[in-house]
Amino acid sequence: MADTVSKTLLFSTNLQQYIFDTSVYPNEHKQLKELREATFDKYSDKREFSVPVDEGMFLAMVVKLMNAKRTLEIGVFTGYSLLSTALATPDDGQITAIDLDREAYEVGLPFMEKAGVAGKINFVQSDAISGLDELLRDGENEGVFDFVFVDADKPSYLTYHERILKLLRVGGVVAYDNTLWYATVAVDEGSVRDLLRSRTKQEAPEYFIKSRAALIELNRFLASDQRVEISQVSIGDGVTLCRRVR
Ligand code: SAH
Ligand code: CA
Repeated sequence: MADTVSKTLLFSTNLQQYIFDTSVYPNEHKQLKELREATFDKYSDKREFSVPVDEGMFLAMVVKLMNAKRTLEIGVFTGYSLLSTALATPDDGQITAIDLDREAYEVGLPFMEKAGVAGKINFVQSDAISGLDELLRDGENEGVFDFVFVDADKPSYLTYHERILKLLRVGGVVAYDNTLWYATVAVDEGSVRDLLRSRTKQEAPEYFIKSRAALIELNRFLASDQRVEISQVSIGDGVTLCRRVR
């Protein structure tokens, strides 16, 4: 199982394994486990796309604590986070899920059907900005979403943020994924490049460096955005919860 818990910010891998063995794997929903395994079979090169199991449980807990009914996800892939939150919404929950990639969503869809939640989900195959603008064109969507999870392309998060704040109700929460970016947000860019070069014998991929810079900017922005109060959670690769307050 070690491969499934590799993306962690915890310094002790024993502690990480302890958490997974004690409370996480024993309580993972059967269809989530099957979806996770099907994802690993089909996309062995993209294993790190799916949120880790403990993070899926954390998001589900937030949705339950808020009694969230109307939710939105941006960046679905095969749907591990989507199924985690869908299982946490009530029977009359309504979930909008946006991703460019329908093929990946369809890998996860049979597990959402088996789990009995596919009927709550409206999958929109679209670029996220167009999808958000489409939602905003219908004035009825303004201020009605309880919970939003964002896990698509990192350099666009700030652009999503402005649109999402219009869709969220006051008191609603948007959660941004990967905000600690492999812990590199706390390391200067030159050292990140050196580290990756020494580990992989290659130059750091440009998307990696760009995403890091974008997330640093996002973190700085959110910390002083008076429209939200935030909590930076160091689970998974870092999740920032933002609660709309005005
Ligand atoms: N939350 C998912 C993982 C998402 S991976 C899970 O737990 O499994 C990131 C996803 O973002 C990919 O599926 C990719 O297709 C999508 N994505 C990237 N850029 C996008 C964009 N501009 N618009 C919509 N989706 C995008
Ligand atoms: Ca992610």
